Amino acid sequence: MKQLLDYNYEEIEKIVLDLGEKKFRAKQLFEWLNKGAEFNEMKNLPASFIKKLEDEGYVAQAIHIKDVLESKLDGTKKYIYELNDGNIIEGVLMKYKYGNTICVSTQVGCRMNCAFCASGLDGLIRNLTPGEILGQVIAVNKDNKVDKERAITNIVLMGSGEPLDNYDNVTKFLDLVNAEEGLNISMRNISLSTCGLCDKIYKLADDGYNLTLTISLHAPTNAQRLQTMPVTKKYPIEEIIKAVKYYFDKTGRRIVFEYAMIEGQNDTLESSKALVALLKGLTCHVNVIPLNYVKERGLKGTNMDSIKNFIKYLEDHKISATKRRTMGADIEGACGQLRRKYLNKDE
Ligand code: SAH
Repeated sequence: MKQLLDYNYEEIEKIVLDLGEKKFRAKQLFEWLNKGAEFNEMKNLPASFIKKLEDEGYVAQAIHIKDVLESKLDGTKKYIYELNDGNIIEGVLMKYKYGNTICVSTQVGCRMNCAFCASGLDGLIRNLTPGEILGQVIAVNKDNKVDKERAITNIVLMGSGEPLDNYDNVTKFLDLVNAEEGLNISMRNISLSTCGLCDKIYKLADDGYNLTLTISLHAPTNAQRLQTMPVTKKYPIEEIIKAVKYYFDKTGRRIVFEYAMIEGQNDTLESSKALVALLKGLTCHVNVIPLNYVKERGLKGTNMDSIKNFIKYLEDHKISATKRRTMGADIEGACGQLRRKYLNKDE
């Protein structure tokens, strides 16, 4: 089975020509694919052409929405999607004043095994293809009934998986979603979150992807970070800082650091001092995140007062910092949790 959504415009054109069809059919087909259409919805394409595609083993869409939960508090929607091979992934649509942001997954599961995260509990199952990442954006656009005026204005690669551990598929997704003939979403409106795979950060800069690079830091020293993030063994914090400086020099984009606060671990005065020392002089912003409780992981989040004090300390020392808004608090929590619940791995 081949998913048409995995191909870029030039590749679709080649498929169409190879099947003996006229070139303009490629444009029509590509437009339908980007609207989330199935073959039977592609009204202006001849049945004989669709039949040829089917006979060649092509399917149109890469993912299908299985379930949607909508928050009564802020309109946040959480999605459960099914892939063509039956695997399940999840995503979120968040509504802001300036537009709507979708959080997409890049892998089924994850290899990184961070101590607070539900996505890595079963390890990596498989990488998502470019079309399976794009399919999340397209399916949610369609579900929100938007055609010309797009529902989704911003994308964050912060769902399940480590995007830089699936570099080729993720960058092809970025090309697809950025393409003029496609959804045409600008790199300025895309954030990519990574636990810090340094060699890939250099590559991303060299390959010219000028997006908002977000680093899941979560600790200011290697000793502390090793307790929750095994990736620190391979890429110590000093290497990450070097890599993000390179990324900033190449792209001019401010770096964002994620810092989920864990009670008694990274929320002490000593930690805030070490964080200030680490980030001094970098053009960056710190997103302080209240930890979502994951039962299997057992770690406890810091209370709100201490989070506020931590942020004040950073700001007093000229480090820009804000608390991440908690959205969709009534419809099930953190990375990977909804999927687990769906698969009945959580009661
Ligand atoms: N692998 C990538 C992107 C996926 S996770 C990365 O590491 O950045 C998206 C963000 O959610 C990361 O910052 C991750 O560390 C954070 N996260 C994971 N579990 C969490 C939890 N229980 N509470 C709060 N944040 C969590």
